[in-house]
Amino acid sequence: MKKNLLALFLLFTFVFQSSALAQTATKEKSSARNASETITAAQLKDYLYFVASDEMEGRDTPSRGLDITAKFIGMMLSRWGFKPAGDDGTFFQKIALSSDMVDEAQASVEIGGQKFAVGEDFFRLAGNGMASAPMVFAKDGWFVKSKNIDALAGVDAKGKILVVSGNMSRGSLTPFPAGITPKDLEGKKGVDWADPLTYAREKGAAGIILVASPQVQQNWESLKRFLGRGGMYPDKLREDTEKPLPTMLVSQKVSEAIFKGEAMDASSASAFEIKKSLSMNAASKSKTVYTQNVVALWEGSDSQLKSEMVAIGAHYDHVGTNPNAKTEDKIWNGADDDGSGTVAVLSIAEALSKSAKKPKRSILFVWHAGEEKGLWGSEYFNKFPTVPIKNVVAQLNIDMIGRSRKPNDANPKNANLSGEQEVYVIGSEMMSSKLGEITKLVNDSFLKLNYNYKYDDPKDTNRFFFRSDHYNYAINGIPIVFWFDGVHEDYHQPGDEPQKIDYNKMQSIARTIFLTMWELADLKERPTVDKQLPSELTQR
Ligand SMILES: [Zn+2]
Repeated sequence: MKKNLLALFLLFTFVFQSSALAQTATKEKSSARNASETITAAQLKDYLYFVASDEMEGRDTPSRGLDITAKFIGMMLSRWGFKPAGDDGTFFQKIALSSDMVDEAQASVEIGGQKFAVGEDFFRLAGNGMASAPMVFAKDGWFVKSKNIDALAGVDAKGKILVVSGNMSRGSLTPFPAGITPKDLEGKKGVDWADPLTYAREKGAAGIILVASPQVQQNWESLKRFLGRGGMYPDKLREDTEKPLPTMLVSQKVSEAIFKGEAMDASSASAFEIKKSLSMNAASKSKTVYTQNVVALWEGSDSQLKSEMVAIGAHYDHVGTNPNAKTEDKIWNGADDDGSGTVAVLSIAEALSKSAKKPKRSILFVWHAGEEKGLWGSEYFNKFPTVPIKNVVAQLNIDMIGRSRKPNDANPKNANLSGEQEVYVIGSEMMSSKLGEITKLVNDSFLKLNYNYKYDDPKDTNRFFFRSDHYNYAINGIPIVFWFDGVHEDYHQPGDEPQKIDYNKMQSIARTIFLTMWELADLKERPTVDKQLPSELTQR
């Protein structure tokens, strides 16, 4: 589960027509159910103690720990007779990541002959190349149509360098306008609203200067360490039109030089043209590193239906380590998030491979990388699929199913953690009534877990629908189901460790998902997409 980094970078109709279904369930009961029962708590525990061990160093994307986890999954899949479905007959779909570090020898900011020092006076935040142009003061740089906010009203930004200044709260280096709530940003980005970087690009600006707020200025030294590392992004996921403009964060010292002798300063209530020009070079050195999704196929038994697939997935990455953490434990193990999904999917694969019978449709397994970075692996897989993705009839996503709230737990951080035989189910009815029906029916006719639909709501303020890999399948037109245990005291903390997992709960959920997968794979007709994804859910 990805953290809700909200705006900046910024969920019953139940028709009981199930006699046919119930029959299938009874007829096939022995083989599918027998296979599901080979998934055990002990097995899940063995796998998770490996995947979430300290040696995996928190499975950051990219990292050696993540690569070792991928190799481990690939080795098991090979042993169990799966068909590799990644690149070139392998289990791996390679994803190239471009990392760009500032080129300190070349990066520059200069105003009227006065040169400033990289690291001391400014940081390169984004973009490449040079810009030299007159400046325009652009207030906080925002556009929000519903609130009549237009930071560039009255000025021509084309070809200019925009000087953006405002309240940099929420740990962001982009100012955020006062009085704006996430609700105001529900429309289409770039049309109904735009953050300063998007708006500047749309208006044809040449570059952006972000003036450090007093708060940011105070933390300049610690920013040095953080900003020195540079960013990293899957190059193929970025359109040319989305390439960022040269963007610099500048100190108060540079700000003073910008506004010196001008009629107005950064306190101005409206945008204005600054008489001076500024030259900058957002020089960077880039290098390419690689990570991977792990992709495998279990071929179906029906000569016709086997061209279609039921997809099942989890993200196998987490957030890595933090050598500067104030805690003694520097490793974010990610046992629940999403080691639990990773090994649940692995145990489902193992059970399938050892079953006496095969489901009719094929089963596609994808372990996604880079989920914690912004759902990279699932976006990449949906945009550059290694299988005919339109033949995927449904995607079942497992992200965090290992923790349970004990009845006497008074910790407010665990208030919304699901109970021992409970799990949140999200999205099952949002696109396909049939998928929703089957998801519910399988559970009702089997282990009868407490399926909690509380977050299955387009208006969910936690925005859980947007925060895991199923999202990229859903917007690609594939109906999804998402199983999730809820946030807890160790969510994105070094304490998310394998000894705190409820393995019996995991066993119950994994067995139920296994049977759901099988039921879907044996349906006569693929689940019809009979509902539009609610508009609140089509834009992240
Ligand atoms: Zn997470």
